[in-house]
Amino acid sequence: MSELLPNHLAGRWQTGGGPGTPLFDPVLGTELVRVSNAGLDLEAAYAYARDEGGAALRALTYAQRAGLLSGIVDVLKANRDRYFDIALANSGTTRQDSAVDIDGAIFTLGQYARWGASLGGTHWLPDGETVPLAKDGAFRSRHVQVPTRGLALFINAFNFPAWGLWEKAAPALLSGVPVVTKPATATAWLTQAMVADVIAAGILPAGALSVVCGSAQGLLSPLQPFDVVSFTGSAETASAIRSHDAVVRRSVRVNIEADSLNSALLLPDAQPGSEAFDLLVREVVREMTVKSGQKCTAIRRIFVPASCYAAAGEAIAAKLSRITVGNPRNETVRMGALASRQQWESVRAGTAALRRHADVLHDGSAAPLVDADPAVAACVGPTLLGAGRREAACIVHDTEVFGPVATLLPYDGWSDALAQIRLGQGSLVASLYTADTARAADAALALADSHGRVHVVTPEVAAVHTGHGNVMPMSLHGGPGRAGGGEELGGLRALGFYHRRAAVQAAAAVTDLLDGTAPEGVPGH
Ligand code: NAP
Repeated sequence: MSELLPNHLAGRWQTGGGPGTPLFDPVLGTELVRVSNAGLDLEAAYAYARDEGGAALRALTYAQRAGLLSGIVDVLKANRDRYFDIALANSGTTRQDSAVDIDGAIFTLGQYARWGASLGGTHWLPDGETVPLAKDGAFRSRHVQVPTRGLALFINAFNFPAWGLWEKAAPALLSGVPVVTKPATATAWLTQAMVADVIAAGILPAGALSVVCGSAQGLLSPLQPFDVVSFTGSAETASAIRSHDAVVRRSVRVNIEADSLNSALLLPDAQPGSEAFDLLVREVVREMTVKSGQKCTAIRRIFVPASCYAAAGEAIAAKLSRITVGNPRNETVRMGALASRQQWESVRAGTAALRRHADVLHDGSAAPLVDADPAVAACVGPTLLGAGRREAACIVHDTEVFGPVATLLPYDGWSDALAQIRLGQGSLVASLYTADTARAADAALALADSHGRVHVVTPEVAAVHTGHGNVMPMSLHGGPGRAGGGEELGGLRALGFYHRRAAVQAAAAVTDLLDGTAPEGVPGH
């Protein structure tokens, strides 16, 4: 039997009971390791995290905690090669796709280490200005933000075992809040390995970082009022978490990053042959194929003026036909596997459902796999669908296929484009392609109410823009409505989730002692 990975809880490594759940290589189908948390005392583990980890972190200043993040960066860099090996085996991703997760994690941690250092030698953050409550100013109100005295529980999706942990842990640890992370079972190995390396390096105080792998059962019940939960995954699980008794009764703060039908939008000036048109085609193909389309931010719906529909379909399909799919150990392979055979089944079922209502503009499922057995490997070629018939398109605005699948949709005028995009009920990101900067600014504002991020691609940023689907720590990640209604990252704004805001009403002599200028970017400013 393969190795049973231990969990790090209550400051020590603990092995769960029973045989555990096996994790597989999604290309070869071989068993890699197993995970279990059966029989472990989560209540005691959470108490330890709050009492030991929380107290030790809160005793440090922001700058000192930023130093801890720098230490984590060094450890992850030193072990980087092994993480790529684990990702290749357990996620079936090409080296380039693994880098999105692993190097994205290291980059994000590094950013928070730099930002944290600028917060200096303090233990709390001022929020806004001190304002008078009495006419002569003798009695005043001063808002402060202090770290919450609970723990931060992370429940993550399978597609980002590295970045998914560290993009949440960086602002939490910087805020002085201990972390308990529960990776998605299918790809838990990389998360567990990273935590093991950081623990072994002895950088963090005891109880500051815990990892629990395996079943999610019993994860939420021991939560207390000052704990926070940050969840990334499906809308269905999100709703189970939101309505959990511990969350509802104890007002546990919850952030949800859920699924999303993100859009790419070609503005009317960008006709076939224009640079903006080509930029849309390139970005759509990249988004459909990076990590085999298993990115919450990936483009699922492509809106083009009706006059460009045929040309856009042909151009995207032509590029997709050159994507080689199969075993990422073969250097000619551009797109590796989905995370598991279960995901493969889900993508095939979702694609079949969409195909009943849309035309197939490119069918990658027919192409042979490179060095992979189609009966075993979780590999699937990209599919581009087209919903030229408006009445058939409803399902396209509602069904997220978490794989290399997107649908092209024509629009008739700006208000039609906007109305169709909004049928997605709130998304993480929309990208715009145009050479008309004035129109781009108007369109970005018009989409801002239903998207967490609007990514504008004009020819002058062709070589430098960061990509529709790449989540940069400087920008907000999250989206309203269907996307979960959450907010992550966005620079120091992320610290707000891990702090409690309070108003101190007192004599000027007291509030003067609490005066200070909050660094730029701190929430409340
Ligand atoms: P999922 O099935 O919802 O699982 C997500 C996590 O929740 C896993 O760790 C899972 O554990 C755990 N979980 C399952 N049932 C639970 C319960 N009753 N209570 C508490 N936790 C529970 O999602 P997934 O299939 O891993 O991920 C794919 C989805 O995530 C897609 O829809 C995608 O759009 C979304 N996603 C969103 C973002 C974003 O930032 N918005 C990022 C990535 C992915 P087990 O694995 O052990 O079941």
